[in-house]
Amino acid sequence: MSDTSSWSKASLAAQALGRTDPVTKAVVPPLHLATTYLRDPDNAYRSGFVYGRPDNATIRDTEAVIAALEEAEAGAMLFGSGTAAATACFLALDPGDHMVAPAVMYWALRKWLLTEGRRLGLEVTFVETDDLGQLEAAIRPGKTKLVWVETPSNPLWTVTDIEAAAALAHRAGARLAVDSTCASPFHTRPLSLGADIVMHSATKILNGHSDALAGVLAGAKADEYWARLATIRSGMGAILGPFEAYLLQRGLKTLYVRAPAQARAAQDLAERLARHPQVSRVLYPGLPQHPGHEVAARQMEKGFGFMLSVQVRGGEAAAIATAARVGLWKRATSLGGVESLIEHRASIEGPGTPCPADLLRLSAGIEDVDDLYRDLDEALAAAHR
Ligand SMILES: *Cc1c(COP(=O)(O)O)cnc(C)c1O
Repeated sequence: MSDTSSWSKASLAAQALGRTDPVTKAVVPPLHLATTYLRDPDNAYRSGFVYGRPDNATIRDTEAVIAALEEAEAGAMLFGSGTAAATACFLALDPGDHMVAPAVMYWALRKWLLTEGRRLGLEVTFVETDDLGQLEAAIRPGKTKLVWVETPSNPLWTVTDIEAAAALAHRAGARLAVDSTCASPFHTRPLSLGADIVMHSATKILNGHSDALAGVLAGAKADEYWARLATIRSGMGAILGPFEAYLLQRGLKTLYVRAPAQARAAQDLAERLARHPQVSRVLYPGLPQHPGHEVAARQMEKGFGFMLSVQVRGGEAAAIATAARVGLWKRATSLGGVESLIEHRASIEGPGTPCPADLLRLSAGIEDVDDLYRDLDEALAAAHR
């Protein structure tokens, strides 16, 4: 293996840490599909592999790339989805433990905490984690075991100060976990800001091609909690399949090309849409008027991410009519792929959603940004005719 110590993140990602296959000299590491491994004659398993549920070589290769990008000392752990990765963090708590989570967060995880989490005896306080006063008041020293934040968070792109949140959590004896799906390691490295765990839905920009469901955790410390996460992954059979890990590794190779391009497109679209007569408000941390702009400018590097939302004049009907009229943008849920997606969020979240009814969520892809703007402009005009 090459000496990668001087390589930048872009180089590490592009060559999956520079690994080649020692047997064939292939420049792309092989895909390991085997579910079982040969035992040595003396009964040992010297290769380190026994069975596919706890571990797999393609999984390890892909985890090593993500651990390098996140500068994760404990390493990374791949799961079958972002949801499996996140819920492992909640399942690693004990009944009666208290945790804090954002009032506005990834909808399915909030729902899990309110239903399954409660059934398992977790006590959860939901607060606006971008308000450090509220966060501090919600954390109970000795009782709170986990503070969960998401930044920028779905779908309002509120920004939580990771460094400050880590200090508040640690002072009370709690861990800080960050859902960094919408920042990606290109923009933010939560572990270097004091977080204990970083989680990604790797289904999104890490893979980037909307063709593999995956989740990942990266850890600052190989402590008891980290070991418990591995036990949960294995015990629940929640490991990612090797083929998905292979696709993810392939997607990661272009992360440092895709992420800046998508962030530039999002910034450009946010600036243009902020001046659009049929748009009442644009939510994007890259706009100076966004409440999270100052913190984002500090903890995000090289741009503000690929996600933005717009509030459409004319309310819910006009928002849905706009989404109905796009052509280049694809009307679909999910985010982070090379194809731009638009979604009326309140429809998918259903009753009880904190998402405004006039909001459209936009995931900027890598298409020509003038084409993207024109498509939205025409759809907005047609919806208001
Ligand atoms: C998609 C997403 C998740 C859930 O990930 P899946 O891979 O769909 O299970 C969690 N958090 C955020 C911010 C997401 O966008």
